[in-house]
Amino acid sequence: MSFDASALANRTASRLRAYDPGHDLPALRVRFGEQLAELGSNETVLGPSPHALAAITDALPDVLRYPDPHGGALKRALAEKWRVETSQIALGNGSHELLMLLAQCFADSTTSVVFSEFGFAVFPIAAAAAGAIAVSVNALPGDHATAPYGHHLDALAAAIRVDTRIVYLANPNNPTGTWFDDDALDRFFDHVPVSTLVVVDEAYQEFVDAPGVSSAARLLERHPNLVITRTFSKAYALAGLRIGYLLADPGVVAVLERLRESFNVNSLAQTAALAVLGDSAHLRKVCEWTRSERDWLDHELESRGYRTLPSQTNFLLVDLGEDAARFEQHLFDRGVIVRPMAGYGLGECVRISIGTRSENERLLAALP
Ligand SMILES: *Cc1c(COP(=O)(O)O)cnc(C)c1O
Repeated sequence: MSFDASALANRTASRLRAYDPGHDLPALRVRFGEQLAELGSNETVLGPSPHALAAITDALPDVLRYPDPHGGALKRALAEKWRVETSQIALGNGSHELLMLLAQCFADSTTSVVFSEFGFAVFPIAAAAAGAIAVSVNALPGDHATAPYGHHLDALAAAIRVDTRIVYLANPNNPTGTWFDDDALDRFFDHVPVSTLVVVDEAYQEFVDAPGVSSAARLLERHPNLVITRTFSKAYALAGLRIGYLLADPGVVAVLERLRESFNVNSLAQTAALAVLGDSAHLRKVCEWTRSERDWLDHELESRGYRTLPSQTNFLLVDLGEDAARFEQHLFDRGVIVRPMAGYGLGECVRISIGTRSENERLLAALP
């Protein structure tokens, strides 16, 4: 009998497909060289605080040691920043790992996980990996004047059942760039039982300047079932080091600790994260520059007849009003990488990250 590993996969793995990373970027960097414009992954092109690069360089000789399994120094800095106890913090190899770990620890085949249509791609994967019942809730309807595709919080609350262990929200959301305000989240909590964890993914929160929108961290004391995930991949520009964290009730963190891999966050990532936290001036500069460059690009796209959705992030969702595959291929052939959204059920949209001015100009020049 021939060997068929796929037939040996367990029930959960049998139902999953491998992550589609999109284009082979290392190969494209060789092919296009300096002319490649990488606008597909929502990275921050200004780069991290220079303090981070200096700190990593100093820490390089320590790579022969295992990292601190508790991330003690970083947790103390985060606890001070958020005015929480270190026992309320878990560190992850990117916030992706934490989103998965939450489902692994709290959901299973007898429970359900709720998330929004057009929500972050990791939410359904986390539910599936835990073997949980996935409940996808229709996004807000609307036309382009009213920012469609956002989370429908009333419908999400209504979808919560007695067996719902997790509801995942992203604020702002990727890939839609949509957001909800503090009042809306307050009202949402009125309809959520304490037996359901509300996970608010705030990967882009640093970029937000809309009035009345702040971090859900203000609700931590009031709602022990609230979990907030944050990342160093976006505004802090450390995507390559893989580090994120969550804030939650100490009881939630204690459960996660049972399944967390002991050395999940490497030592250079811990060192760099600590350094970027100490440079709020750089963070402010990155966010201000990103907002202004985004608004410029938005304006340039709209003046060429493209419809963009309002954004509080470092990317724009462009609705082409027709299948986006040809548009994406056209840009690809010219070395401009954007992210098609068919995998999200948004086949007429592409997501464009804010690049350097020169990359953004190359995008504009390459438009069909
Ligand atoms: C990029 C992103 C993340 C962060 O992922 P990391 O694993 O921390 O790099 C989390 N949530 C959303 C919505 C994102 O877009």
